[in-house]
Amino acid sequence: MTTPDELLSPTGRLAARLAGWESRPQQMVMANLIAEAIANRQHAIVEAGTGTGKSLAYLVPAILAATADQVEGDAIPAPAASRVDDEPGADDEGAAGENAAGGSGTRRPRRIVISTHTIALQEQLVTKDIPLVAAVMPREFSAVLVKGRRNYVSLRRLALARERAGSLFPEEGEMAQLGEISGWAKQTADGSLADLPFVPHDAVWDEVASDAGNCMGRACPTYKQCHYYAARRRMAHAQVLIVNHALFFSDLALRRGGASLLPDYDVVIFDEAHMVEGAASDHLGVSLSSVAVDRVLSKLYNERTHRGLAVHYGLEELELSVLRCRRAAEDFFGEVRAKLADRGPSPWRVTAPHLLPDTLGDSLQGLGRQLRAAGEKITNQAERHDFLSLADRLAGLAGSLDMWLGQNEPGCVWWVEFKRADRRGRDAQARTLRPCGHGRADERHAGCGRTEPIGSRRRLRS
Ligand code: SF4
Repeated sequence: MTTPDELLSPTGRLAARLAGWESRPQQMVMANLIAEAIANRQHAIVEAGTGTGKSLAYLVPAILAATADQVEGDAIPAPAASRVDDEPGADDEGAAGENAAGGSGTRRPRRIVISTHTIALQEQLVTKDIPLVAAVMPREFSAVLVKGRRNYVSLRRLALARERAGSLFPEEGEMAQLGEISGWAKQTADGSLADLPFVPHDAVWDEVASDAGNCMGRACPTYKQCHYYAARRRMAHAQVLIVNHALFFSDLALRRGGASLLPDYDVVIFDEAHMVEGAASDHLGVSLSSVAVDRVLSKLYNERTHRGLAVHYGLEELELSVLRCRRAAEDFFGEVRAKLADRGPSPWRVTAPHLLPDTLGDSLQGLGRQLRAAGEKITNQAERHDFLSLADRLAGLAGSLDMWLGQNEPGCVWWVEFKRADRRGRDAQARTLRPCGHGRADERHAGCGRTEPIGSRRRLRS
């Protein structure tokens, strides 16, 4: 049985392969500690200084553990030999419980998740460290860099966006980008943002990205060519998954509801672990922002540009309902702000339920029902799906509002904060969902013109 020392020691495989390999005693201590923790199913926390060689110190025992079955003669279905597939993995909506390895009783591969905060570290692992380990490891394994679903273009949504471009994109630059994405989508092998030669406008990518709430899965006419599902298949056969903290905790949050982004795994290793707390609290809570509401409403009807789904389908009643809902949202968030503003700068703890009456939930729910009814009359399955997914989103927003106002989940803290949105408010949703020092403006918010109230729920930290 290969041990970490056989790879890392002064006479080990790495030393034999690399001239100038410098064996580090602390690295071996760390590697053996991690091997022991994995074998005994224990937690281990390691703090090691610069120059220890931490990534190899966890990769070597982790990969040895993930491939341990191979030396016990219980073969893992053959992955490409020591291959590092830097194409992505996947996320979302698999049922929790093993969704890999083809089901029907096939045993899944042992799997290790390595979670980092920065892309730079992910790139180092994928392009440098893992290939190095693969070159000296006497076993076969595959590793994938797992990206979130929204990194991938949805070919079905792209085709739909092109059909509706006139009512979706008021600006020439956006139309031009849509054309460029269409050309790129015909030849990209990867289908992810990393392969796109330019950074698209949020508004454009939002219309063409793979979206869990708006995916037809196997019923999709472009399912066989789908980049996202291709990535999922690669992930399902990998033993090492490189993810970021945000994706890891999104998966964890989904598992509480019986779904998952990642396939089942045996071990997780957090590098850059000082960022774990922020990512965890960000993803294990619920938040609602005026920007999130505005964004959904604008997809339906944008009164400034007179664009949106309602305009495209000539649904005037729906346009009016969107306008009413938008007014209700403006009034509600304005009242939240007015109620709390005299407490000084946000964030503001809200210690009792029902800070103010729910004057928005009914509008969101009603609009959702109207949208659903309109969608159910559409015979084209793909187009109908678009309506229904937006109706689901409205219902989800109403549910978050109800939960936040009622504070009906024990063990949580509740608060409101203002954060700046960009001038158009289009890309502010991610910012509002991501903490930036609990309300401090930072450089990402420079030049922004307005503030947004946000209600959030977070579990108490011990
Ligand atoms: S399967 Fe889902 S993500 Fe893939 S192209 Fe179809 S709708 Fe888009």
